[in-house]
Parts: sequence; structure tokens; C-alpha cells
Amino acid sequence: MEKEIIKEYGHDGLTIVWKPKTCIHSGVCVKALPKVYRPKENPWIKMENASTNDLKAQIDMCPSGALGYYRNGEASQ
Ligand code: SF4
Repeated sequence: MEKEIIKEYGHDGLTIVWKPKTCIHSGVCVKALPKVYRPKENPWIKMENASTNDLKAQIDMCPSGALGYYRNGEASQ
């Protein structure tokens, strides 16, 4: 089986986990938080442009489950 690629982005005690192979490129995240999700930039997630609560609420809406997060020091969810 192919190994899952997992990218992590951290800011202010929160880590966002993104699985590029799981992402279905629905663009839901980009529409919800255009200042955070910038597909043409590298890194493409600019966490500093939204509050932790806004990030979490948006991540919960990712339709494919490609996005996840954990508070630093806690287990990944
Ligand atoms: S919302 Fe989820 S599935 Fe859609 S583009 Fe963003 S990361 Fe990918």
C-alpha cells in the first residue's frame, strides 16, 4: 500500500494536518477562508490569517476529511 502523505502546518499552539491524496479539491476551504487557504502559494495554508476558532470551524467542514487539526501536546484527530 502507498504511504499516506501528511503535511503539517503550525501556528499559535494549533497544528493543521492536511492529506493531499485525500483532498478532493472541492475548494470549500478556499471559499470559507480565502486569506488562509492560498493554493498558489507555498506553504499554501497561512494559519496566521484567521483565529483558532475560525480555523477549527472551517476544518470541520472539509468534505473529504483531508484537513484535521490538533492542539500541540494532544493526539491527532
Ligand atoms: S475543503 Fe478539504 S477537500 Fe476541499 S479543497 Fe480544502 S482540503 Fe481539499
